[in-house]
Amino acid sequence: MSQLVWFRSDLRIHDNPALFTACQQAQQQGSGVIACFLRPLQQWQDHDWGQNRMRYTERCVADLKEELEALHIPLICLDVDTFKEQIPTLLQLCTLLGCEQIFANEEPELNERQRDQALIPLAEQAGIRCQLFHDQSLLPLGSVLKNDGMPYRVYTPFRKQAQQLIAQQPVETFPAPVPVISEHQQEVQNQVAAQVWDQLGLSSFQPETYADDPVQQRWPATEKDAFHLLEAFCGQPINRYKVQRDFPADAKGTSLLSPMLAAGKLSIKSCWRAAEQISLSDPAAAESANTWQGELLWRDFYRHLLVLYPELNRYQPFKEETKQIRWRDAPEDLQRWQEGKTGFPLVDAAMRQLKETGWMHNRLRMLTAVFLSKYLLIDWHEGERWFMQHLVDADLASNNGGWQWAASTGTDAVPYFRLLSPYRQAERFDAQGEFIARFVPELAKLPAKQRIQPKGYVQGYPNPMVDLKEGKERMMTAFKAIK
Ligand SMILES: Cc1cc2nc3c(=O)[nH]c(=O)nc-3n(C[C@H](O)[C@H](O)[C@H](O)COP(=O)(O)OP(=O)(O)OC[C@H]3O[C@@H](n4cnc5c(N)ncnc54)[C@H](O)[C@@H]3O)c2cc1C
Repeated sequence: MSQLVWFRSDLRIHDNPALFTACQQAQQQGSGVIACFLRPLQQWQDHDWGQNRMRYTERCVADLKEELEALHIPLICLDVDTFKEQIPTLLQLCTLLGCEQIFANEEPELNERQRDQALIPLAEQAGIRCQLFHDQSLLPLGSVLKNDGMPYRVYTPFRKQAQQLIAQQPVETFPAPVPVISEHQQEVQNQVAAQVWDQLGLSSFQPETYADDPVQQRWPATEKDAFHLLEAFCGQPINRYKVQRDFPADAKGTSLLSPMLAAGKLSIKSCWRAAEQISLSDPAAAESANTWQGELLWRDFYRHLLVLYPELNRYQPFKEETKQIRWRDAPEDLQRWQEGKTGFPLVDAAMRQLKETGWMHNRLRMLTAVFLSKYLLIDWHEGERWFMQHLVDADLASNNGGWQWAASTGTDAVPYFRLLSPYRQAERFDAQGEFIARFVPELAKLPAKQRIQPKGYVQGYPNPMVDLKEGKERMMTAFKAIK
């Protein structure tokens, strides 16, 4: 009899409550552990995942397979199109492998939660117990509530309450499990697992590493690298985070851990604990480490919102009245924004960074999102989708939260009349035009001031596509029309 661990967005062996508990129970019962990953390619596409996110996940699975092998746990990788198909596949797997328990970690998104809720009774009918664990946030999803039991809509009081709860009950992490069975037993299990694929008539897949994909090669996808990166960030850059995090040219200004957090290669709790250690060991760095923890809590905030406001999962704005906004249908303008040809250097550099690297700096995500939804008055859903399709760290909660913040349709969003000017942002955060020069070669030879705001025509570079003053007025009219 074995325990089945179902990996989803928790592709690691350290601080993995489902895996840890499964191994612990297997040890007590003298049984083995088998793991599976069911790749729902169609569902991912329906959720707007692009190639960058899908390939990154696959690389994380490849590493997980190796990590699990060292624990004598085989990982069965199967292709299933949709979440709906995952359930019968999982039950079939349990029957064939003789598993009476499924272990998995909770996910915050609605479709994922609905799938899990559908699985539990069906598994029970088949005599299989399904256990779900709190994993994806610092505090259990949906548990940070006001005194009257209502959800927080504003980040700052949410953060204070979350910090208070954490002070009462410190964040704990799980160690990696120890191997529960011998290599010989594993051999036997591997043989069983291999037969399963044939019997199920499902296609197994061998996770690839995409060595020739330049985007993938930028982003480490192993658990060891995740810890190295976290360690390296906490070793020095975290001390400067408070002052450096807004400067996109500084490659060490932020942690760059978002792809690993999105795929669950690294847990949010491990990040929190690492920052806590820094605060304890180096009081001078505490303030900066605390700022970083504040960003980890933004991530938590958006995850709690997804759970507490299901409409956010259905492409709805948080502020109902903003459905009245008459966004412009302007496909050519949208395309110029997507291609980084707006004629505003910092916006273009950011959009090209996204295309070239699969990632964009946080300040620039804010800037480009405000530019699209406010200055161009194009529906934020278009931008949200484009980001999902290109980001290696694409994540519904943070992406939706960020877009609704920028478009002023969300909870605790930027007031609609407060814009981020592309020129002013460049003056403040890329004063030497260093970042612009990196991604917009047409402007690289110009003096810094000209790079930020070219005077007159520059060969090969477009003129500004919108008059900022007119764009702002158009947006103000649209928002003021809301009843
Ligand atoms: C329009 C828009 C879209 C976004 N889309 C995504 C997305 O799809 N996936 C994603 O992971 N983040 C998204 N973010 C949040 C943020 O931009 C990235 O998490 C951050 O840039 C990642 O870089 P880092 O790992 O170096 O962050 P650090 O500054 O080192 O922060 C550490 C971690 O905290 C979390 N975090 C930091 N800032 C935020 C934030 N504002 N909101 C939520 N979590 C945060 C991330 O998990 C990040 O890895 C979006 C922000 C905006 C404004």
